Amino acid sequence: LVVLGIESSADDACAAVVTSDRRILSNVVRKQHHINAQFGGIQPREAHEAHIRTMPGVIAESLDSAGLRIADIDAIAYTRGPGMYGCLSVGANSARAIAAATHTPALGVHHMQAHALTVLLTDDAPPAFPFLTLLVSGGHSILVLAERLDSYKILLDTLDSAVGRTIDNVARLLRLPHSTAAGLGPVLEQYAAAAPLPPFDAAPLPRAPLPLSTDRAHEAALSFAGLYPDLQVRRLHPGIDDSAPPEAVQREVARVFQNAAFDHLAAKIALVMRNLDTPVNGLVVSGGVGSNLALRDRLRAMLDEVATETPVPLFYPPVALCTDNAAMIAWVGVLRLQAGLKGEPLDLELRKKWSLEDLYDDVPASCY
Ligand code: ATP
Ligand code: FE
Repeated sequence: LVVLGIESSADDACAAVVTSDRRILSNVVRKQHHINAQFGGIQPREAHEAHIRTMPGVIAESLDSAGLRIADIDAIAYTRGPGMYGCLSVGANSARAIAAATHTPALGVHHMQAHALTVLLTDDAPPAFPFLTLLVSGGHSILVLAERLDSYKILLDTLDSAVGRTIDNVARLLRLPHSTAAGLGPVLEQYAAAAPLPPFDAAPLPRAPLPLSTDRAHEAALSFAGLYPDLQVRRLHPGIDDSAPPEAVQREVARVFQNAAFDHLAAKIALVMRNLDTPVNGLVVSGGVGSNLALRDRLRAMLDEVATETPVPLFYPPVALCTDNAAMIAWVGVLRLQAGLKGEPLDLELRKKWSLEDLYDDVPASCY
């Protein structure tokens, strides 16, 4: 099977070609960081218009660099949700138009299912179902039990903002240099990993308190909003509205914030894992924040602490496939076709809000 994937749920326009024997023949990602930098974040309308301009070229490039023509494609998978409606519609409509014109099956994929299953494409020895997946990105912070290809249970979700969004906000608050190549997350990671500068090498900032202690009321919930270090930064650098804080402050606040955020995630996942009814075959970390090396170290330490009968291995896709891409969308297309799906109607509603727990509930039985 050769599947073309198209992704445009947020600000990246992506197209990729993937085969059922796990080869990624092409993976084109056209980012909009330069537009986001201009507006201080993703603007739905600007992002939508940029997709309209770039998507045709991105699709053509994905076929060209795979060395294929549209006639070589067996099916087209596109992101059906969740995401921004205008953005989603550009990818979905491109996919459906090509599918209709070439009599090729089209299928609409859940973006977070694709993040969850990326390791099945990239890892030579991926976990079998059931496994846990932590999806940490700009829009999501969820811990999911992946029971089967099309069956997921959300075990943890955030009460307020997603961890990636919080990371971006803190990076902006600290006025870290804006990296147009990779977004702000990797920049904050670098500052957090850098050695403390005086005066913080002698007396480090006290660590931020963990949000939502592990009391029963908030057991199954994450929260990151309370970690936003606005007051701390204003105290350390009263001139924040006019100028960037000194690098010593940037590094220290980044480090203390990032530690608190990741300790919180690890503590909550440990709590859930101690209460699981059935053993799981692994913890898969995905989404943009999943590329953070400090987070990976923290999770590995957590898994060592949670003494389960059999050790739970940690999996993560290569960094380039942790953030949004169309290879993961094409791959879910491959898996669903292999599981018996023949294709979906071309007029299925796009789902800008879509829980992983209601997956494909509106796909007619005749499609299988
Ligand atoms: P979603 O997939 O939920 O719709 P998204 O499209 O923003 O959201 P991704 O592209 O998966 O998600 O991830 C982008 C987010 O990941 C951003 O918030 C970015 O700051 C964060 N991120 C990327 N790399 C790192 C890193 N090394 N450390 C921390 N955060 C990171
Ligand atoms: Fe994503």
